[in-house]
Amino acid sequence: MNAFDLVRQKYAEIADLSHAAALLSWDQQTYMPPRGATDRGHQLATLSGIIHERLTAPELGDLIEKASGAPDVASDQRAFLRELSFSRERSMKLPAALVKELTLEASKSFEVWTRARKARNFALFQPSLARMIDLTRQAAECWGYKDTPWDALVPDYERGLTAARVEKIFKPLRDATVKLLGRITTRPQVETRFLEQKWSIDAQREFGMRVARDIGYDMTAGRQDIAAHPFCTNFSIGDVRITTRFSETSLVDGLFGIIHECGHALYEQGFNPEDARTPLAQAPGLGIHESQSRFWEVRIAQSEPFWRHYLPIMQQYFPGQLDDVTPGQFYRAVNIIEPDFIRVEADEITYNLHIIIRFELEVRIFRGELSAVDIPAAWNELYKKYLGLDVPDDAKGCLQDVHWAYGSFGYFPTYTLGNIYCAMLVEKMQRDLPRLWSDVGGGRFGTVLGWLRANIHRHGRRYDAPELVERVTGKAITCEPLIKHFEAKYGEIYGL
Ligand code: ZN
Repeated sequence: MNAFDLVRQKYAEIADLSHAAALLSWDQQTYMPPRGATDRGHQLATLSGIIHERLTAPELGDLIEKASGAPDVASDQRAFLRELSFSRERSMKLPAALVKELTLEASKSFEVWTRARKARNFALFQPSLARMIDLTRQAAECWGYKDTPWDALVPDYERGLTAARVEKIFKPLRDATVKLLGRITTRPQVETRFLEQKWSIDAQREFGMRVARDIGYDMTAGRQDIAAHPFCTNFSIGDVRITTRFSETSLVDGLFGIIHECGHALYEQGFNPEDARTPLAQAPGLGIHESQSRFWEVRIAQSEPFWRHYLPIMQQYFPGQLDDVTPGQFYRAVNIIEPDFIRVEADEITYNLHIIIRFELEVRIFRGELSAVDIPAAWNELYKKYLGLDVPDDAKGCLQDVHWAYGSFGYFPTYTLGNIYCAMLVEKMQRDLPRLWSDVGGGRFGTVLGWLRANIHRHGRRYDAPELVERVTGKAITCEPLIKHFEAKYGEIYGL
């Protein structure tokens, strides 16, 4: 066996261990009885210890070096070795003591955050958050950066980007969105009263899973379960699972949740089978992953042609409840724009402002311009400035998200990057597939999925996000197509 084959064999076992851990964690969030929690924590910690040990073993480092220096390294092999080295170096640069402290503090900080949010009192959480910021800053120093410590954090979530570059990408989107929102709020609001009914959860699930199958989710390689927080996970290309939650008072939250997670699942089912048990059977980052979920959730399932096809079908699942509604009315109702405090409930336009606010604060925190104690005031000021809202309390303000409690700084921008990538991909897709919207209006999704498979899914982690987007669209990352989409869609809905 040559050095590369040996590396591949060693990594395959690391992938097996990671997938076993993922299965334990899926079970924890779906079916595990409450008293299983303590020992499940031990099981996951033991597995992650073994994975870390194997990933950072000196013998693996020697083999990677040998394999990289071989005279005939194929490009896929080079991508494999690059990705493996990245994860390895990322783990090795952090001293064990710091990793332990970060893990311990994160679980303490999560507890404190839960209490503080319930009490709507940021002051309770402030010392924990300050500690998480300090520890994260120490980790950034270990990883190294050129401009700001934030740049050292973002590669955990999206590679190839810096605070300065993201600032440049986001600024025109922020300014255009604030302007557009100002115009929309002067217009009469769209009619949504027919959505205020009780909706059978069984019918919601049946209809949602019908749509999931229609758009191509392969149920012989997937399944759907209920969980408090919807997510998608995989244990192999042949086992990609989604979870959802439903509420009797909302007809579309559960549906769009299924379609969102389904978009993630279609991506993972579409990795190249030859990449199984290698570092290439993954997305290059969370932004590209999110571009796939948002594509199906927002661009397809919140489009007018989609509802021309699906409203008559949906009416059969909810007999007597939607009889007088037209596809046009339904389309408008699910696209209502309304500035509000909570990110996870935000509409397509204001969502990005929620993200940009968090991103701008993170950058100021890690440039040393903002300390934990000043976060609520800075948060509320930006909500007033961009969304025109007066934040009533910290629970509806800076305590609403769990990310910072866990020390996940650098994560937030990937949501908006996902929307930006998605708009760029749709622009190119519309040029490549002139029948795109008539296909959607006829409930035919095979060509669309085929396009995503060929252009995005099968590449896995061969390219980082900026590289992949440029390969497919021929353009460097830009928010222009997203702004154009907003202006066209909401210009029509709100008669601007
Ligand atoms: Zn997502």
